[in-house]
Amino acid sequence: MSATTTRVLPVDDDAIVEASRLILEGEPVAVPTETVYGLAADATNAEAVARIYAAKGRPGFNPLIVHVPDLAAAERLGAFNETARALAERHWPGPLTLVVPKASPVLPSIVTAGLDSVAIRVPVHPAMQALLRATNRPLAAPSANASGTISPTRAEHVLKSMDGRIPLVLDAGPAGIGLESTIVAATGEELRLLRPGPIDLGLPMTASATIEAPGMLARHYAPSKPLRLDATDARGGEFLIGFGPVEGDATLSSAGNLIEAAARLFDLLHQADASNAAAIAVAPIPTEGLGLAIRDRLRRAAHKEN
Ligand code: AMP
Ligand code: MG
Repeated sequence: MSATTTRVLPVDDDAIVEASRLILEGEPVAVPTETVYGLAADATNAEAVARIYAAKGRPGFNPLIVHVPDLAAAERLGAFNETARALAERHWPGPLTLVVPKASPVLPSIVTAGLDSVAIRVPVHPAMQALLRATNRPLAAPSANASGTISPTRAEHVLKSMDGRIPLVLDAGPAGIGLESTIVAATGEELRLLRPGPIDLGLPMTASATIEAPGMLARHYAPSKPLRLDATDARGGEFLIGFGPVEGDATLSSAGNLIEAAARLFDLLHQADASNAAAIAVAPIPTEGLGLAIRDRLRRAAHKEN
């Protein structure tokens, strides 16, 4: 990605206004939370979310946690059963993330990596709360560090791996807890602990939870049809997903823009899967930057290791 000048601003009203402006323009901004520093982008803007992945240099797509100011806002994005609502009322705001069935058309599929559930959290940190209220948007935010490096608990840590990759870091000193949020799935009858964290609900780590831990998500969205990579034309009855010069039945980005392609990836996979075509083919995607994450996702879809 192109080099950017990264500014660091101590959190005050002006800094929140500036961060809010950048986020509404589709840029990711690093912001302190009570767990670790997050890299926040407008969760309703698919390209803004793609820029999180570009900045982190993540070689794959993970579903992201969506931050909202309160339970009312959370209930506009997900379906809370009684148990989930009781947990939320008890522990929010705080370092508890709840995975619930996705119930909102405003969240683009890149936020949940194509899943029909969504991870939601109400943070307690005043800077993140101020940013949520100033933007009036749900904010998708993984940790603000380059992929494969340690989660940042200070603005200096964020700069170590993100300097020149994001426009702004809001600095409020050390993040309080320094440990990622507890993640609990409330998608079925029973609660499942997906990631242990600061809030101990006394739930056991189940076998299904270990394979669903961050980075190892067991049930990634996968199309049901065979998928062929690096295709320059459609063979017998394939739905061709284009990129750049390869037009296809629908294109990830006719301009060959990887941010746009990442933003459209899951929608186009769903579209190809729902079409009458018996198989899916995808045009060559460059092996650099976000292209690596896109290719990783497509390879998993092709090999059914989901
Ligand atoms: P983080 O890296 O702290 O932002 O945590 C994100 C993690 O939350 C992912 O790696 C997943 O393990 C988990 N997660 C997010 N959304 C979902 C979901 N819809 N279903 C299951 N786990 C999720
Ligand atoms: Mg992380």
